[in-house]
Amino acid sequence: MAEKTIFSRIIDGEIPGSFVYQDEHCVAIRDINPAAPVHVLVIPRKPIPSIADLTPEDHALAGHLLMVVRKVAEQEGVAERGYRVVINAGDEGGQTVPHLHVHVLGGKQMHGHGTA
Ligand code: AMP
Repeated sequence: MAEKTIFSRIIDGEIPGSFVYQDEHCVAIRDINPAAPVHVLVIPRKPIPSIADLTPEDHALAGHLLMVVRKVAEQEGVAERGYRVVINAGDEGGQTVPHLHVHVLGGKQMHGHGTA
């Protein structure tokens, strides 16, 4: 079996994470190296490596992740002022953890498209 990702280890309680939301399908934790005052990662419990690995059976889960992004943004107090949602995919996409996750960034003015 493939080695567990750091996010699976956090989800399974093997290493600590700062949880801000949990349900049966996904969790949301604070990023350990925040790029903005609010930086939360929404992570499916299912260890899908990347957005490129989503299959038709993940249809509802993919939609659910966006609904949780919306909930987290409200909970973190950035929904009204605005925030950024990022999914990095693969090497050139800048993905460093091979477990699908959605970044929710807010609390400061964003510019451009994060193309650096
Ligand atoms: P990405 O580059 O899109 O794969 O994003 C991975 C994110 O995971 C980075 O923003 C890291 O700061 C974050 N990260 C890595 N390890 C941890 C951890 N143990 N707890 C919380 N966030 C983490």
